Amino acid sequence: MAFESLTDKLQNVFKNLRSKGKLTEDDVKAALKEVKMALLEADVNFKVVKQFTKTVQEKAIGQDVMNGLNPGQMVIKIVHDELVNLMGESTTELPLKPSNDLTVIMMIGLQGSGKTTTVSKLAGQMKQKGRKPLLAALDVYRPGAIEQLQINGDKVGVEVFSMGNQVKPADIARAAYDHAKSTGANVLFLDTAGRLQIDESMMEELVAIRETIKVDVSLLVVDAMTGQEAVNVARTFNEKVGIDGVVLTKMDGDTRGGAALSIRAICGKPIMYVGMGEKMSDLEQFYPDRMASRILGMGDVLSLIEKAQANIDEEKARELEQRVRKAQFTYDDYLNSMDQMRNMGGISSILSMMPGLGGKMKELEGMIDEKDLARKEAIIKSMTPKERANPDLMSMSRKQRIAKGAGVDIVEVNRFIKSFEQTRKMMKQMPGLMKKGKRGKFGG
Ligand code: GDP
Repeated sequence: MAFESLTDKLQNVFKNLRSKGKLTEDDVKAALKEVKMALLEADVNFKVVKQFTKTVQEKAIGQDVMNGLNPGQMVIKIVHDELVNLMGESTTELPLKPSNDLTVIMMIGLQGSGKTTTVSKLAGQMKQKGRKPLLAALDVYRPGAIEQLQINGDKVGVEVFSMGNQVKPADIARAAYDHAKSTGANVLFLDTAGRLQIDESMMEELVAIRETIKVDVSLLVVDAMTGQEAVNVARTFNEKVGIDGVVLTKMDGDTRGGAALSIRAICGKPIMYVGMGEKMSDLEQFYPDRMASRILGMGDVLSLIEKAQANIDEEKARELEQRVRKAQFTYDDYLNSMDQMRNMGGISSILSMMPGLGGKMKELEGMIDEKDLARKEAIIKSMTPKERANPDLMSMSRKQRIAKGAGVDIVEVNRFIKSFEQTRKMMKQMPGLMKKGKRGKFGG
């Protein structure tokens, strides 16, 4: 699978980072040096790597990050966000005209890059989306190219327009355009000829096609397995012919991944699709954020960090932290933290993203079991405001009243209050636990 080695290396770097509570500038710099090496080994363009590590370092050595509860996590998040930036902030859709108009898409690329396969996959997808595609065979040089397109067209149920291999590609393009218009097709795919290497006559031919009919989108197909060569091809095609987007094929192979990370930064054009196999269904829309998470091998943690950032009320968390530190944790605080945990998708998911707390959090797990959260909430809500704010007020008669109010057995109230008191005690014994950061209890 693509990126395997890069992912392994990055995960090692981050494991080290996460195992540290506080980070020094030197820790961050050392980690980024390793990130740099890993990216270079993954065949990411040198200039891209240099800029990337510079940006990450500037952001990571900021005050907010270094003083946060989880500096390691924050650094990982910065790396993730910069990876996304590198590949494009959002996914780029193929720009199609409305269905009552004809969109012309010219597929270009070197021989063997996967052009004929990809154009058929795309036509199939268009058909599934309710469009009426037409495939045109313009590769008049490669033996078997027209037949291959015909076979693929049959597989996806899309008509293939061909005039054999004795007509000039630009003339075939004109005739295919007319045919599309007369048959009501609304997406015309031109499967142009590739060469083994970039050469002038190939460029001229592409330009000639564009002078003959109006091409709306030029999509370049490059083979991810060729690494930096794919990046060079993209840059040259963009300079000489002009492209609107890239399809990166063979991402199912064990490519080191450098092309995916460099193409946009080097040629300024987005990757729109990735080829994930030889079958007609193996073409995926390209999502920079998902790709970044995949490269880091840690999609879940990242979305949790995001959730935490979006949902934690910093002010409340700070107050809570203060009171916990002074061992003034009350039932109101318990309710508050319950709400915050719920906002973040439950306790078990949070526990898993709390590095450094590990074993200690496990001890608390019994008390904050998700299953009886609702009953605990009912118990607290049956307390008077005074009782909630002052746990020491609790007496036998109060407990009986609370049990009645919450509709639970007195045994349950006793058990809950006992475990609450134990937790308070535990908090007193763990002064270091909450001191780690200023940003929020759950490491925002
Ligand atoms: P063209 O010369 O650019 O038209 O390239 P082809 O479409 O003939 O593809 C060349 C080879 O790559 C064929 O054997 C395809 O099956 C294979 N291929 C194309 N795309 C992919 C992909 O995404 N993954 C894999 N594994 N193979 C692919």
